[in-house]
Amino acid sequence: MTTAEEYYRYYTRHGLPGWFSRLGGLRQAIIRCDGPEVLEILRTRCTLDPKDPHGCWVWTGAKRSGYGFIGRGPTNRLAHRVAWDFTEELGTLSVHHTCGTRLCINPQHLAAVTHLENVAEMLGRRSYLRRIHELEEALRQFDPNHPLLTRRPKPLPPEEN
Ligand SMILES: [Zn+2]
Repeated sequence: MTTAEEYYRYYTRHGLPGWFSRLGGLRQAIIRCDGPEVLEILRTRCTLDPKDPHGCWVWTGAKRSGYGFIGRGPTNRLAHRVAWDFTEELGTLSVHHTCGTRLCINPQHLAAVTHLENVAEMLGRRSYLRRIHELEEALRQFDPNHPLLTRRPKPLPPEEN
């Protein structure tokens, strides 16, 4: 079921005459399925980096578990999920942050993955970080001034797709 349908059902069930005009602009745009308008309103609720047009849209609204949230009650949604829903068809897939910033809702930083891929990637990243930490501790015991312990890692070259 799409977000818009759920919003529509919720408000027609609970609303009195004139319910639509009393909704905020964001909910109206969602029910109208007006993707560009939804994204424009979402962007106004984010901190943007003026120097980087392709940077993160960091959500400044409600948060839960480190993620942005929209709305209260039965129609609340993950903000990045709404951003994605109005950019691409998602179905039952999960949305993954390619930038690693949970509060980011920039659709260009989101990718659809199966839930399994998402969990596998997260666990993989965590187990690698733990492994790196253990190796650093072992190296520190062996040579506390080893340059690898102070040098910052170089960014990886871009992946080829
Ligand atoms: Zn981002």
